[in-house]
Amino acid sequence: MRLINFVLVLAILVSGCTSGSSGNSTPTAEDAKKFMDDVNDTLFKLALEASQAGWVSETYITDDTSALFARANQRLIDKTAQYAKEAVRFDKVDVAPDIRRQLNILKVSLVMATPSNPKEGEELTKIAADLDATYGKGKWCEDPKKSESCLDINQITDIMRDSQDEKKLRQVWEGWHTISLPMRKEYTRFVELSNKGAKELGFADSGAMWRSKYDMSPEDFTKELDRLWTQVRPLYLKLHAYVRMKLREKYGDVVPANGPLPAHLLGNIWAQDWSNVYPLVKPANADKGYDLTSILKARKTSPVDMVKTGERFYTSIGFPSLPKTFWDRSMLVKPRDREVVCHASAWDVDNVEDLRIKMCIQPTDEDFNTIHHELGHNFYQRAYKDLPVIFRDSANDGFHEAIGDTIALSVTPEYLVKIGLLDKAPDASRDIGLLLHKALEKIAFLPFGLLIDQWRWKVFSGEVKPEDYNKAWWDLRLKYQGVAPVTPRGEDFFDPGAKYHVPGNVPYTRYFLADILQFQFHRALAQTAGCTSVLNRCSIYQSGEAGKKLNDMLSMGLSKPWPEALEKIAGSKQMDATAILDYFKPLDAWLDEQIKGKPVGW
Ligand SMILES: [Zn+2]
Repeated sequence: MRLINFVLVLAILVSGCTSGSSGNSTPTAEDAKKFMDDVNDTLFKLALEASQAGWVSETYITDDTSALFARANQRLIDKTAQYAKEAVRFDKVDVAPDIRRQLNILKVSLVMATPSNPKEGEELTKIAADLDATYGKGKWCEDPKKSESCLDINQITDIMRDSQDEKKLRQVWEGWHTISLPMRKEYTRFVELSNKGAKELGFADSGAMWRSKYDMSPEDFTKELDRLWTQVRPLYLKLHAYVRMKLREKYGDVVPANGPLPAHLLGNIWAQDWSNVYPLVKPANADKGYDLTSILKARKTSPVDMVKTGERFYTSIGFPSLPKTFWDRSMLVKPRDREVVCHASAWDVDNVEDLRIKMCIQPTDEDFNTIHHELGHNFYQRAYKDLPVIFRDSANDGFHEAIGDTIALSVTPEYLVKIGLLDKAPDASRDIGLLLHKALEKIAFLPFGLLIDQWRWKVFSGEVKPEDYNKAWWDLRLKYQGVAPVTPRGEDFFDPGAKYHVPGNVPYTRYFLADILQFQFHRALAQTAGCTSVLNRCSIYQSGEAGKKLNDMLSMGLSKPWPEALEKIAGSKQMDATAILDYFKPLDAWLDEQIKGKPVGW
């Protein structure tokens, strides 16, 4: 499951609003400081309002709460856009480094820049809302005359997860990919207009604007991603070959012996997470020796107890307890009397210490891990609460998602023994099942996490023309994932639009980065904690030293370039995907055995 971090800071979808007047006299360093004080002050207040309205709208869904949230959020977005454009007037002013960084962050905080021509600005805002709504309302109806035959993304997701009927899966897969047909024309216009806005801010195009958030040139950042992918690609190829072999045993010739995997047979509508095909590919002796879900159920562990257990992980490494308001205000169970958004999320409502999580907790292994993940956001948020408002965010957008997952990697059998949930840790020889399951989630995701923005960057830069949108999409899916559709997908389709983040205009590289970073953090912190066992059995539970390192990094927020934050934990300014290889080492050797003599690649 992919988790959304709903830290309501400044970098969400931005639209609307034209630039304010910049005055005639040359601004001074003093003006710049005053300007940033005003920005921090105003955005703090607007973010609080939007965040409070957002909380209510997700925990008590009515037409009115939705409208209140939309209004408050628009105010925040408009103001941020206005400030971002105004910040340009300090470009040539000699200001203190700290103020310069704040100005730069403000300028790149936009995800979508609207052109200053009011007509075009309005058109872009409307198209963005339309694309989002088209996806949100997207349904595929087997029989359009019968509304009960219509499936939304949740029902589609369930079928893709549970069905092993190849024909059914193919039909549902093709059905869902019809929802994006109407988006194609609008998306083309969207690209034109958002590029125009980005150019006005001094960026080559919208993709270059997105890449400029990473403390290095857009070109260097692209190269950096390629380097990381090259490090893990050999392991991905082995996993791909193994899964292909097993799926071929199950589905026959529809799965080629040495070609790409069929896009509809991987348990997920986008083939971005393959863990649902685990039952088809699991090793013969996959029993991991315990079942956390059964343990939690047998003990009748309450949702509050599960969260308290998660909190104790963080306090065991030196973080202070969660504030009382966390327990008063969080939503931990699904209310019986109203509609809520159950999708797990972590909040810092006042951007200081009004920390909360929102979940519909069930006593399961998955939710137990998710709790550790969500609390990671909360402890990060509190660690940077004393910085100027604009710095209250993670070092780059990959970091926020990576922290909770780093801690979740420490939820090992040994940890479960220490906290009394398990009597005895099973022998590490049983780990292949666990590791394979994790690889189907995390390794399988990497090429997908990379290619979404590879496609968008090419689209924004004009390298991919509108008449080739779909071709370029499938070229990249083949190149990175080794995944292909079973029937031709010509330009009469618009398959990228069937993935939320494209019509929703949400950058995606952060998820790739988070996937890489969490293993690098885990390896470095495990070393600090003195762990000498295999990396997948290391837990930093109760290591004050690891906790201190982690906190040193978290408390920097966004105030310094991310390589400096990374260095606090990893001792290096470079991202390094070899930690993934270390973590999955036993699986890598096992995969070698399984695919011996079998084709690898496509
Ligand atoms: Zn998250």
